Amino acid sequence: MNHKDFSYIVVGSGLFGAVIAERIASQLQQKVLVIEKRDHIGGNCHSAIDEETGIEYHTYGTHIFHTGEEKVWQYINRFSSFNTYRHQVLSCYKNKIYQLPINLETINSYYNLNLKPFEVDAFLEKITKGEKSNPVNFEEKAISSIGRELYEAFVRGYTVKQWQIDPKALPAEIFSRLPVRKNYNENYYFDEWQGIPLNGYTHIFNNLLGHPNISVLLNTDFFSIKDTFDKDVTIIYSGPIDRYFDYKFGTLSWRTLHFERKVFPVKDYQGNAVINYPEEGIPYTRIHEPVHLHPERKYNTDKTVVFEEYSLPDNGANPYYPILTEENIKKLRQYKEYAAGFKNLFICGRLGEYKYYDMDKTISNALNLFETRIKEAKRNQ
Ligand SMILES: Cc1cc2nc3c(=O)[nH]c(=O)nc-3n(C[C@H](O)[C@H](O)[C@H](O)COP(=O)(O)OP(=O)(O)OC[C@H]3O[C@@H](n4cnc5c(N)ncnc54)[C@H](O)[C@@H]3O)c2cc1C
Repeated sequence: MNHKDFSYIVVGSGLFGAVIAERIASQLQQKVLVIEKRDHIGGNCHSAIDEETGIEYHTYGTHIFHTGEEKVWQYINRFSSFNTYRHQVLSCYKNKIYQLPINLETINSYYNLNLKPFEVDAFLEKITKGEKSNPVNFEEKAISSIGRELYEAFVRGYTVKQWQIDPKALPAEIFSRLPVRKNYNENYYFDEWQGIPLNGYTHIFNNLLGHPNISVLLNTDFFSIKDTFDKDVTIIYSGPIDRYFDYKFGTLSWRTLHFERKVFPVKDYQGNAVINYPEEGIPYTRIHEPVHLHPERKYNTDKTVVFEEYSLPDNGANPYYPILTEENIKKLRQYKEYAAGFKNLFICGRLGEYKYYDMDKTISNALNLFETRIKEAKRNQ
């Protein structure tokens, strides 16, 4: 493969890289080289078949597609149809199952009550009486919203395990994003369009990257071949921004995840795709059971595979969640300002922007980058 044949280099075959490569290949009719350091396409959305059970699982944690953006839904449906899966999350506290996000069932079950929706506000007022009226951190905000007991049971331990940080050190706004429902609605997402790709996520990536103008180079770190490209080639880089500039302004820190695979000789181990384990004494944060993601499939097995999820400090190999401390935000600003001075370079995706994005937002960002900047740059060439 001659690198000089390509006028566009896309670093990373995750959702951002795959969508932007597809747009350039199909709309601009240009040759695109996608460089991926892993041994597979799809980035963190990758799915694979568990060899022992034949069950499809999501390699980097359960991924549910959901969007309220019609443009995104129409775009992605050109590459796959979706099943009718609706996500529900449960929490196992002291060997009893509760619904999440906290709703009327969680409250009634925990307190052994039968409150009606119109009685919830008064009840919450009673259990938060005497707590801070001007909460200044995550813990104070949570306690003043749902009371100390529900906070201790469902929120505190999970937060500590996930972030390894005292919840008092987190900003109050983070809790404001966690909904408390006053009815029995147990749907995790309310978006109009939801589901799991009928043939798995990797199938979508095969379709996105299957355009004849696209070549994919796996097992290749972009930095090991960076110098082989022409200076005027357009680079769309969806790897970590600090790495691109050789950590010039310091390292941006991440949390990473580790999954422990287990197989059980039963068809259904836990009855749900994801169950949270909020107690600090239990080392994992969640258990995933992928068989539930495809209710339309008839898996021919008497076994099920599950994955325990452990949250760890980043070891540099698999960045998952950005840690948005003031220090990291300051470094990110320096990187972004510096990157703006480079012509023909677009740093993007969740790693490039050091930001958590759901899949629909990632697609939307890639489509927007193509429409607003890549097309324009091509016209001006
Ligand atoms: C645990 C978890 C669960 C999630 N669940 C959901 C969910 O249920 N629903 C939802 O909508 N979203 C979910 N997401 C978000 C979703 O994973 C992201 O939106 C999506 O993966 C972002 O795609 P990306 O292309 O930006 O990044 P990535 O998928 O990380 O792709 C970046 C790619 O670049 C490659 N790369 C990096 N550096 C180099 C280099 N130097 N050379 C070559 N290749 C390189 C990487 O190997 C990787 O393949 C979840 C995320 C996590 C972490």
